[in-house]
Amino acid sequence: MEVFILYLGLVLIGVCFGSFAGASVWRLRARQLASDKKHHETYDKREYARLKKLTTASFASDRSQCLQCGYGLKWYDLIPIVSWLSLRGKCRSCRRAIGRFEPLIELGVALFFVLSYMFWPYPLDTALEITRLVIWLIAGVGLAILFAYDAKWFLLPDKINFAVIGLGAVNAGIVIVQSSDKLATVASIVGAVAILSGLYLALYLISKGAWIGFGDIKLGLGLALLLADWRLAFVALFAANLIGCLLVLPAMAVGRLKRDSHVPFGPLLIVGFVVAQLAGVYLVDTYLFSVI
Ligand SMILES: [Zn+2]
Repeated sequence: MEVFILYLGLVLIGVCFGSFAGASVWRLRARQLASDKKHHETYDKREYARLKKLTTASFASDRSQCLQCGYGLKWYDLIPIVSWLSLRGKCRSCRRAIGRFEPLIELGVALFFVLSYMFWPYPLDTALEITRLVIWLIAGVGLAILFAYDAKWFLLPDKINFAVIGLGAVNAGIVIVQSSDKLATVASIVGAVAILSGLYLALYLISKGAWIGFGDIKLGLGLALLLADWRLAFVALFAANLIGCLLVLPAMAVGRLKRDSHVPFGPLLIVGFVVAQLAGVYLVDTYLFSVI
């Protein structure tokens, strides 16, 4: 019974954080467009006209209106998942589709919360150990924002990247404090940074920014600090590339993807990272590095 309540709690909190993540994505996008406009860069004028009101609205009133017709949403229109299902994904006033984005990110974060608790590979006995899980969950909300933003607009906003790096730094600090061999732990964390961030930095320098953006390097740094283990960083990179190949090759084969299509690295790296943390420790211990 307690376990059921715990998981129900995780789902409800996850859905609420997912709702926050979804709102943040639009708010960040509106700010980005406003900044592009101010600096006379090319930007999508129609999209800006639609999202403009989000640049001035405070957070409390962020999702208070339909982005299409301006209908003022009531509290019962704002219940995560439930409202979307009862309205069948349409605005109550103009009946235009409001998209699947909101319910998907809400369910995505809820699933992340449940899986993270279910497969958490470390003990949860001390305050510091519990803090690590809490940091991981909060970082996951930031990563949901980065995932959605990069998938939609091929960009990783600095504000969220830096927040994830900050959480990662605190996590790495806890790992070092808990470790009995501090020098080896620091070396392992440096190795993780080299694998996830250094490799992207090398690619960035070699291609002069053509293959990947600088955002991927910052994302890699945050993820490396959250894993805090070079072996897990290796698993994350491997999983990201494997998933990338499994998705990209069939899409290329059926002609949905051109050879020069832009593939966002961020979402792949984030999925690989979650797999590495929640399954990687078992893989590392049982198979890959049992000799080390
Ligand atoms: Zn509407």
